[in-house]
Amino acid sequence: MQAAGLKTGDGDNRLRIGVVKVLVDGGFTGPAAYTLELYRGCPDYFGKLNHSEEELRRIILDAHEMGWQLGFHAIGDAAIKITLEMFVDALERFPRKDHRHYLKHFTVSPPEETYRLMAENNILIAQQPNFTWTIDSRYSETLDDERLEHNNALRTPMARYLHGTRKRHPPTDPFLGIYT
Ligand SMILES: [Zn+2]
Repeated sequence: MQAAGLKTGDGDNRLRIGVVKVLVDGGFTGPAAYTLELYRGCPDYFGKLNHSEEELRRIILDAHEMGWQLGFHAIGDAAIKITLEMFVDALERFPRKDHRHYLKHFTVSPPEETYRLMAENNILIAQQPNFTWTIDSRYSETLDDERLEHNNALRTPMARYLHGTRKRHPPTDPFLGIYT
């Protein structure tokens, strides 16, 4: 990316550079989403990050400083919390007004403090509520209680003034999205 010298928004009407997406963790089909609490029925498994925290921080700082919009995949609440804190750190070091950075998927609701930081720093989310339909059985296998009942929560972030898109994910029927 550094060698190419490109950033979000470069290009023309036919081809324009979008966001940079990094897969911070996996998903529940793995199961590889990185969570703050143990997976249901597992004595020592929290899922995992795909990069070391040091590496992730470097990518975020570099891409942000170079002018990229960040749209990172974060599914587990631990992945969401860590990524968000690194986004905020990058914004404090290199302030940018209309950054439009966002977290993609946002499946397991993070702690209240994370929501507060997101609203304060205007970090957006892009969710796919249809996941609740397509991988419902995976959620039941790996999550429990509150985490299961509130997977892909839409109202919780909306009530905290977080804005974003609720993109469709296959199956793409919008009525199914509303139903889930
Ligand atoms: Zn993704």
